[in-house]
Amino acid sequence: MPASEHVYRIEAVVLRRHDLGEADRILTLYARGYGKIKAVAKGVRKPASRKAGHLELFMQADLLLSQGRTLDVITQVQTVEPFLALRGDLEHTVYAAHFVELLDAFTEEADENDRLYNLLISGLTWLCKTSDLQRTARYYELRLLDAVGYRPQLFECVVGGEKIQPRDQFYSPQLGGVICPDCGPNHSRTRPLALGQLKVLRYLQTHSFETVEQLNLSSAVCLEAERLLHDTLTYHLERRLRSAAFLQRLRYETRPGQ
Ligand SMILES: [Zn+2]
Repeated sequence: MPASEHVYRIEAVVLRRHDLGEADRILTLYARGYGKIKAVAKGVRKPASRKAGHLELFMQADLLLSQGRTLDVITQVQTVEPFLALRGDLEHTVYAAHFVELLDAFTEEADENDRLYNLLISGLTWLCKTSDLQRTARYYELRLLDAVGYRPQLFECVVGGEKIQPRDQFYSPQLGGVICPDCGPNHSRTRPLALGQLKVLRYLQTHSFETVEQLNLSSAVCLEAERLLHDTLTYHLERRLRSAAFLQRLRYETRPGQ
C-alpha cells in the first residue's frame, strides 16, 4: 500500500497529555476536521526530543500522524500558534485549562465539530489578549453552550413562551433559561435573576469579543454570572454523563458480553 494511506496531516490543539512508558506520551488532541483524537508522541520526554517544544499543553500545531494498530503515532510536528501568554503565569494557565477541560467534557472522540475547534482557537486567543480573564471565561462558556446545543434562552420565558419584560426574573439551569415572574414561583429549583444580571448575560451572548472587551463588570456581577453559568454547565454535563452510562448499559443488555 502507498505510504499516503498510512499517514495523514492534521491541525490540532493539545488538550491533555499523560506519560507512557519510559519516554513517550499519549496526547489528547482536538483537530480541525476530526474532532477529539488520541495519539502517541514517541520519545517526547527525552531531553533531546525535537518534538517536545511543539507539543506543550494548549499549543496549536500541524502534525503528521501515522496509523498505528491501536493508537496513531505523531511522526512530525510544527507549531502553528504557541499561545505563549497561556504559559506565562499561573492565572492564564488555570483559565486555559478550564477552557480546554470544558471542551473535553462536552465532546466524544472522533466526533468532528469545526465550530468547536474554531471556538477553542478563539477562546485561547481571547485569553492571551483580554483585559479581564473572568469576563472572558463567561463569554467563552456562553459560546460553548451555544456550540454544543445548550444555548441559554434569555429572551423568552422557557415555561410560558412570553417575551421577557425589563424587570427582575427567574432562571432555571434545568429548563435552560429565563422564567418570567408569572411562571417562576410555580417552578421548583429556579433562582432569582436580577434585571441587571440578565442584561449582562444578554450582552455577552449577543456581542462580539471586541465589543465585550469594552464592558466593565463589577466583581459581584461577574461572580453571579459565574455561578449561574457553572450551574448550567454542570447540569448539562451530568445529564450527558448519565445518558452515556445509560447508553453503555443499553449496549450491554442488548449485546451481552460486549
Ligand atoms: Zn412565563
